[in-house]
Amino acid sequence: MQTQHIKIHDISAQEADLRHAAQILKNGGLVVFPTETVYGLGGNATDAGAAKKIYAAKGRPSDNPLIIHIANPADAEQYAVTNETYFRLAKAFMPGPLTVILPRRECIPTETTGGLDTVAVRCPSHPVAKRLIELAGIPIAAPSANLSGKPSPTSAAHVAQDMDGRVDMILDGGSCEIGLESTIVKIDGDRLTLLRPGGITYDALCMVCEHVTIADAVTHKLADGERPLSPGMKYRHYAPTAPLVLLDGTPEHVIRFLRAEQELGNCAILCYDEELPYLREHHLFPVGERADLQMQAHLLFSALRHADATDAEIIYAHLPPQEGLGLALYNRMLRAAAHTVKHVE
Ligand code: AMP
Ligand code: MG
Repeated sequence: MQTQHIKIHDISAQEADLRHAAQILKNGGLVVFPTETVYGLGGNATDAGAAKKIYAAKGRPSDNPLIIHIANPADAEQYAVTNETYFRLAKAFMPGPLTVILPRRECIPTETTGGLDTVAVRCPSHPVAKRLIELAGIPIAAPSANLSGKPSPTSAAHVAQDMDGRVDMILDGGSCEIGLESTIVKIDGDRLTLLRPGGITYDALCMVCEHVTIADAVTHKLADGERPLSPGMKYRHYAPTAPLVLLDGTPEHVIRFLRAEQELGNCAILCYDEELPYLREHHLFPVGERADLQMQAHLLFSALRHADATDAEIIYAHLPPQEGLGLALYNRMLRAAAHTVKHVE
C-alpha cells in the first residue's frame, strides 16, 4: 500500500487535506494523526472491518481493545452508557489525556473492544485530532501508531519507521506535547480504578472523585496466569531490542556506576541534563532535568527509539519516582525494562 504523507502547518488553511483524511476514514481506511499524547492509528470505530485492519497494521493481538476517540465529551453517550461520574471527569479533564472505560453500546462492535462489553472513550485536545474526528462524523478507534511492542511514536518520523506502507495516510502535526499515552480509568458508579497512569495524575483524579484505586499491575508485575483488569497489561510493551535496566540509588552512586560502565562496555544511557558534564557523549541521550517530569515524559519514547538504534548492548536509565507524572514514567519504564531494576550503592 502507498502511504500518503501530509504535513499540517495550518488547520484552517488545510481544511481540504483534513476532509480528504476524514473521507478515507469514512471509507474504512486507516489514517495516522497527531494527538497531545502520542500519534494514533485511526479507523472507523463502528466498522468491524476497519478495526481488523488496525490490528493487522500494528501486528497487535486482537484481544487488546482499542480506544475510541470522539470530538466532544457529550458524544460518549452515543457509544457508551455514561453516568454522573463520567460527566464530572469530562468537565475537569476533557478534552485532554484521559480515557474512561464504560459499558459499551451495540453500535461499537466487539472487534473494536477486543471482545469486551465495555468500551474505552477519549476526547483528544489536539486541534488536528479534534477537527479530523468532527469532519469524519464517526468515532475513531485509534491505538498508538507503533508496531506492537515498539515504543509509542511521538513524531511523524517515528510513525513512518513503523507504519509506512501499512496505512493510507500519515498526518504530520509535529511532536506530541505530552509524549506518554493517556491515563485510563474504569468507572464503576462513583468509583474509579486507575488502569494506566498518564498525563492526568492520580492526585488530579482524587480532586474530582473520592474513591480512586490504583490497579496493582500499574506498579507490579502480573503473577503468572493472573487475569489483568485491562488486556493491555499482560502484553510486554515499549520494548527496546537491547535490554533496558533501571538504576535506583543516590545521584552520586548512579553517576559513578554509569562512568564505570562507559569505561568497561558498550552501553547507551538515558540521563538527566545535569549529569551531562560527568558522562562521555557516546550513546548518551538526555531526557531533561531530574525535577522536570514533563520534559522526561515528552522525550522518553524518542530517547528509547534513539538508544535502541545504536549498537549498545545494554541501555541504562533512572528509575523514576512514583509521584505525580512520575507514576506514568515509572509504569512505562518498568514495562520497557521487563521490571529489571538494579540497586547501585
Ligand atoms: P493503546 O491504544 O495502544 O493506547 O492501548 C489502549 C489500551 O487501553 C489497551 O492496551 C487496553 O489495555 C486499554 N483498554 C482499551 N479498552 C479497554 C476496555 N474496554 N477495558 C479495559 N481496558 C481497555
Ligand atoms: Mg500502545
